[in-house]
Amino acid sequence: MGVKISNRCEKITLLLEKGRFEKITYNEKLALGIHLIQCRACRQYRKDSRYLNKAMAQCFKTSKISPAKLNAIFKDSLAEQIRSRSGN
Ligand SMILES: [Zn+2]
Repeated sequence: MGVKISNRCEKITLLLEKGRFEKITYNEKLALGIHLIQCRACRQYRKDSRYLNKAMAQCFKTSKISPAKLNAIFKDSLAEQIRSRSGN
């Protein structure tokens, strides 16, 4: 089912998330850099994740919508997309 993600990739994406909120060590940075050179999936993840975070931050800045509310809106729009794709 779906794209198989290796244990390594799982660790790397966790590291990517961690690095956004706190400092990561030199060794972690190194492991991240080396893996990103080799792994297309993780590079794509980093790109998507950055874009999403930017969009979210923009939303919070320009509106008074709370994260919980935004989450609900996001879910609704996702459900809407799924509905329109399935043609119902
Ligand atoms: Zn990877």
